[in-house]
Amino acid sequence: MRDFEFLEPASVNEASRMLADLGDDCRAIAGGTALMLGMRQRMLTPTHLVSLGQLHDLKSISLDAHAGLSIGALARHHDIARSPLVQIYAPLLAHMASVLANPQVRNQGTLGGNLCYADPSTDPPGCLMALSAQVVIERAAGQRVLPITDFLIDYYTTALAPDELLTHIRIPPLAAGTVGLYQRFLRTPAEHRPLASIALLARREGAVCHDVRLAVGASTPVALRAARAEAFMNGKTITLDVARAAADMVASDIDPISDARGAADYRRDMVRIVARRTIAQLFDLQDDSQRGLQRDLQGS
Ligand SMILES: Cc1cc2nc3c(=O)[nH]c(=O)nc-3n(C[C@H](O)[C@H](O)[C@H](O)COP(=O)(O)OP(=O)(O)OC[C@H]3O[C@@H](n4cnc5c(N)ncnc54)[C@H](O)[C@@H]3O)c2cc1C
Repeated sequence: MRDFEFLEPASVNEASRMLADLGDDCRAIAGGTALMLGMRQRMLTPTHLVSLGQLHDLKSISLDAHAGLSIGALARHHDIARSPLVQIYAPLLAHMASVLANPQVRNQGTLGGNLCYADPSTDPPGCLMALSAQVVIERAAGQRVLPITDFLIDYYTTALAPDELLTHIRIPPLAAGTVGLYQRFLRTPAEHRPLASIALLARREGAVCHDVRLAVGASTPVALRAARAEAFMNGKTITLDVARAAADMVASDIDPISDARGAADYRRDMVRIVARRTIAQLFDLQDDSQRGLQRDLQGS
C-alpha cells in the first residue's frame, strides 16, 4: 500500500477545508472497512487521509418528536442495531443493521461510510429509501439536506462534492399503525453481501393497507422505490394473489445488475420471490411456495 499522511481534524469545518485544499489526493476515512480494501488493492492511492474519528458529535443517535430519528454518519452498524431508539422507532433499520455483513464489519463500519461508498451490493440504501430518509451534508461553506433518493446517484457515485461530508441521516416519524419488514437474499450462506433485498413499510387498517413504501436493494445500480407496485397495493386488502401481482410488478420494473455474482435474470427472479415473501409475511399470509428459499432469506 502506498504511504499516506493521516490527518485528524477536530471539526467538520476543519475536515472540509482539508479536503478542499488537498483535492483528489485526499480521502475522508471513517471505519476504513471499504477504503482500506480499495487502498490495499491499489484501486485508490490517496496521499492524505482525513480521519473523521475525532468528530464525536457524528456518532450520536437522537430522537426529536417532530423531526424523527437523527443518526450520526459515524454511527457504526452495531450501534444502530443495538440502539433502543432505533429499535423502537425504526425496527426495520435496527434489524437490517443486525444482519448486515459480519460482526467485524458491523463493529467497524459506519452507516455514513456505507452510503458514501455507494456500493450497490449493500443493505442500508433500500431500507433508508423505504423509510423516506434524508441526509445532511456539510462543508465549511454551509449545509444542505437531500432525500436519500437524490444522494445516491449511480454505481459508486453520490451527490457529495469533494469537500463535503455526510454528517447525519434523518428518518421522519412513521405514522401510527405502520408495520415494516426487511428481507435480504444471500446467494450462499457463506456470502455476506445481499444479492437482492426488499424493504417494505405499510400502514395497516384492519386487513387493508395504506401508505405502502417498497424499496428494492442490492440488485440494481442504485436502490429504488417500486412506485407501480406501491400504488397497486395501496387501499387493497392484501391477499396472496395481490402479493404475487405486486411482486411481479416489482420484478418487471427493475433493470438488474448482471455480474459474476448473478445474472440479471437470476436477480430479477430473486427480487420477485423476496418481494412476494416479504409482502406475504408482513400481512400474515401463508406462502408455502419456494419453501427451499427460506434458509437463504434473512428477515424479521
Ligand atoms: C467483508 C465485507 C462484507 C460486507 N458486507 C456487507 C453487507 O452484507 N451489507 C452491506 O450493506 N455492506 C457490507 N459491506 C460494506 C460495509 O458496510 C462498508 O464497508 C462500511 O459500512 C463502510 O463504512 P466505513 O466507515 O468503514 O467507511 P470507510 O471505508 O471509512 O469509507 C468509505 C468511503 O466513504 C467515504 N466516507 C466515509 N465516511 C464519510 C462521511 N461521513 N462523509 C463523506 N465521505 C465519507 C470515504 O472517503 C470512503 O470513500 C461489507 C464490507 C466488507 C469489507
